[in-house]
Amino acid sequence: MSRPRIYAIRVQPEFDGFIPPPASGLDADLFNAPDLIQPVVGFRKWLLVGDELLSPLARTSWGAAPMRARCMPRPSGVGRNWHKVPPHAGPAPDPDCACGLYALFAPHRLWGPQGPGLVPGAVVLWGRIEVHDGGMRAKCARIVALALPSLYSPSGKAAVRRVAERLGVEAVPARQLQAAAQRHGRPLPAALLPA
Ligand SMILES: [Zn+2]
Repeated sequence: MSRPRIYAIRVQPEFDGFIPPPASGLDADLFNAPDLIQPVVGFRKWLLVGDELLSPLARTSWGAAPMRARCMPRPSGVGRNWHKVPPHAGPAPDPDCACGLYALFAPHRLWGPQGPGLVPGAVVLWGRIEVHDGGMRAKCARIVALALPSLYSPSGKAAVRRVAERLGVEAVPARQLQAAAQRHGRPLPAALLPA
């Protein structure tokens, strides 16, 4: 796998007061992308436990407020490359670590049952963003929409709607997720995607 490209995406202060990193002391491969002033749209899934959305690996609870990445101890059962030992104090994500808030460039293509309680949705990302071959890892993220896969049972869809209402985000048919997401940000420009 190639080294990730790393961008610093500045957004308006109302997106949680993200402070751009200082001009000095950045990684040699850190690019400021001055045209990126809107958060970047990404797609991911959560475990739905009760009415709580948890990240599938780290089991972090996601709420309505922006999430901010930090390097965490490795959860049990997760691969050995979870982090450098011990967790580092520098920025998260770190290209030599596995930390950061994960998202894909596009919605998952398979919407079928992939284990009970896995809810697909959209996020916006900003701050430090690493672009890997398979997706992105970001410093900051916020949920903007949840999907209602057509294969979900009525009770499953109702559960997703309840969470969406609590978070103040839309719950939309899966095929509308991309459009719903783009009301809150924009896809990573093609020029910044992995080759
Ligand atoms: Zn880390």
